[in-house]
Amino acid sequence: MKKVYLDNAATTSIRQEVIDEMVKVMQTEYGNPSSTHSVGRSAKAIIETARKTIAKYLHCTAQEILFTSSATEATNWILRSAVKDFGVRRIITSKTEHHATLYTVKALQQEFGIEIVEVNVLPDGSLDYNQFKALFPSERKTLVSLMHVNNETGVVHDIAQIGELCHQYDAFFHCDTVQSVGKTELNLQELPIDFLVASAHKFHGPKGIGFAFVRKNVVLQPMLFGGEQEKGWRAGTEAVHQIAGMAKALELSYEQLHEERIYITELKMYCLQKLQEAFPEVTVNGENTLYNILNVLLPFSEAKTAMILFNLDMKGIAVSRGSACQSGSIKPSHVLAEMLSEADLKKPSLRISFSHENTKEEIDYLIEVLKEI
Ligand code: PLP
Repeated sequence: MKKVYLDNAATTSIRQEVIDEMVKVMQTEYGNPSSTHSVGRSAKAIIETARKTIAKYLHCTAQEILFTSSATEATNWILRSAVKDFGVRRIITSKTEHHATLYTVKALQQEFGIEIVEVNVLPDGSLDYNQFKALFPSERKTLVSLMHVNNETGVVHDIAQIGELCHQYDAFFHCDTVQSVGKTELNLQELPIDFLVASAHKFHGPKGIGFAFVRKNVVLQPMLFGGEQEKGWRAGTEAVHQIAGMAKALELSYEQLHEERIYITELKMYCLQKLQEAFPEVTVNGENTLYNILNVLLPFSEAKTAMILFNLDMKGIAVSRGSACQSGSIKPSHVLAEMLSEADLKKPSLRISFSHENTKEEIDYLIEVLKEI
């Protein structure tokens, strides 16, 4: 059966060059990076080269990049340390953040009794910047946790504006850039961000590896205790091959960004145009979205909603409804719940997310199958 993968916001395939790099490292660099002999030092050098590569593309220093198992871990670590060790008593976030942020913030509220303030989300998926501005100044030490690109709708938030306000009022800014690292330029010399998190599997790298950017002079406390890895901030023997694979994946993503962005933008426009031709009443969820995510509300009956992903899957098409963890479930997406009316929420919304590997023929096939449903 034909396989069409249009769920690249959930995860991406690993580029062949990345696999080759990881295999090479696994075959030759088996040393423990903490060992002082040459086998260990050689593995350590792989990690430090990877750190420099990542720092180069994000325009920060290598010391500001810390490796973690995932973006979820990085977010847990940063938010927890900010509350426990920096005296943060108020976290400003929004209901459309990823669960990695939302559930961490909730847990911290229960544990430490911090205040949570939510920025309103407008029907187009954007944040209510006026309400956000009105939340400052505050007596309470504040951390703002707002994402760059929403993983369900692709809506892009103005992180420069958010960061400037944070710094004006001495608040920390933690930004979930999982959906934008490797897909859009990020210049950390210019962006007023204190903490950023990313995940390799979203930019054609391996799963189980991510990183945090922690701005110089901000000293977090560890979440895991043990060895002295990552300056003692993140104990545990480093996954050398994963780190090398992540750096390679980021390098390739940025080196090919220009061409791939043009290609994917055109695919997304083609997909929307074909959907509009087939279903004139289709609407797009979210405005000002990144070039690789298209979230559409299909004018189908409620009865078809529950089965739509299943039916597409039966035809070999992988797309998503809301975020990956909700795929296949009939629970409405917590992101769309903030944007759509009750009636529209009951209708099927599909997240179609593209990569450089997709083709117009695949989109034609998706439309063909959708028409049959
Ligand atoms: N934040 C966003 C916006 C995401 O899309 C994801 C992945 O689904 C995460 C965080 C979690 O990343 P990880 O899979 O590295 O834990």
